[in-house]
Amino acid sequence: MSAQTIPKTQKVSLFNEQGDTSKIQYVEDFSTPQISSPTDVIVKNYYAGVNFIEAYFRKGIYPVSSTPYVFGREASGAVVAVGSDVKELSIGDKIAYLSPNTFAQYTKVSASNLKFVKLPSSSNDEDLKIYGSLFLQGLTALTFVNEAYNVKSDDFVLVWAAAGGVGRLIVQLAAQRGAHVIAVASTDEKLQIAKSLGAEYLVNSSSDDVAKRVEEITKGKGVAVSFDSVGKDTFETSLSALARKGHFVSYGNSSGTVTPFPLSRLSPKNIQLARPQLFGYITEKQEWDHYAEELKKLYQSGELKFEVSKVYELKDYQQAAEDLEGRKTTGKLTLKIPE
Ligand code: NDP
Repeated sequence: MSAQTIPKTQKVSLFNEQGDTSKIQYVEDFSTPQISSPTDVIVKNYYAGVNFIEAYFRKGIYPVSSTPYVFGREASGAVVAVGSDVKELSIGDKIAYLSPNTFAQYTKVSASNLKFVKLPSSSNDEDLKIYGSLFLQGLTALTFVNEAYNVKSDDFVLVWAAAGGVGRLIVQLAAQRGAHVIAVASTDEKLQIAKSLGAEYLVNSSSDDVAKRVEEITKGKGVAVSFDSVGKDTFETSLSALARKGHFVSYGNSSGTVTPFPLSRLSPKNIQLARPQLFGYITEKQEWDHYAEELKKLYQSGELKFEVSKVYELKDYQQAAEDLEGRKTTGKLTLKIPE
């Protein structure tokens, strides 16, 4: 295969204007990226994992450098063109990688700072689906239970959105370390998923008083850590559920961003607050290599259960976003990119 086989236009999912899911557009004649620097690589994508972060860019919660903004943060694909200085990758290599703009048939990345793993040339459709969807949420869960707060045996650990993409992975990793996982989710069906993955206590946020249940479960002591991806709506509950010297890991805004608060709110219980993002833990090559390798091992050995709950066609990303943001989904969603 050579660079000449790349067509001039491609199918992508993008937005031009900020707003709700109605701003998501499927465009069939978007210009295809070309090699313009010696370190450029062009990847033809197979599957691209869906992540909640797209909603933040689309709504303006996180800034975008320009529009049109092509969605996407991760994918699996095959290298179809490389710049003259690229040594790490060759045309035909199959890879899984993290990068913006993967909800597209073709994505341009720079080899100089690309977060990727090579996939065997024999990788089948199922492998490409899994590895195009595993890394962003998998590495989030893995780095956070190690570095945002190092979960220990016998810790009480509160996990919000426990059947969600990241949540269900945190549940498993924490339970495997011998922690007592308290899973929070909005339906009993979601809670049963968390239970099957190792959660010891189940709290239904639609019908239970979460803070009160945590108090009962921990006999008034509180939890060692709250992994809170919900943000605005759950900040106060997380804070009150924490034990003295507890760790508040606030890592998402699914319900909106946390309202600014005085730091002195942390003092009565000497709370340690972290607001981490995945990329801060995988910046250096050795960090990426270490965690990507560990995640692959955990998945391949069966220790970490990961599956794609639903595959949508690229043209149906708007439906996927409506389902995810409407709390209708569990686990991982992914997009099949057209040939
Ligand atoms: P999820 O699969 O967890 O989906 C979101 C879930 O959040 C819903 O299913 C729902 O679960 C819960 N939720 C609670 N309140 C709301 C609300 N008002 N609107 C929508 N959802 C709500 O998504 P992901 O696994 O993709 O992401 C989880 C979170 O982790 C996101 O906030 C994401 O931004 C964050 N994240 C952060 C990273 C970082 O580096 N900091 C990296 C990756 C993800 P329920 O119905 O059970 O309450």
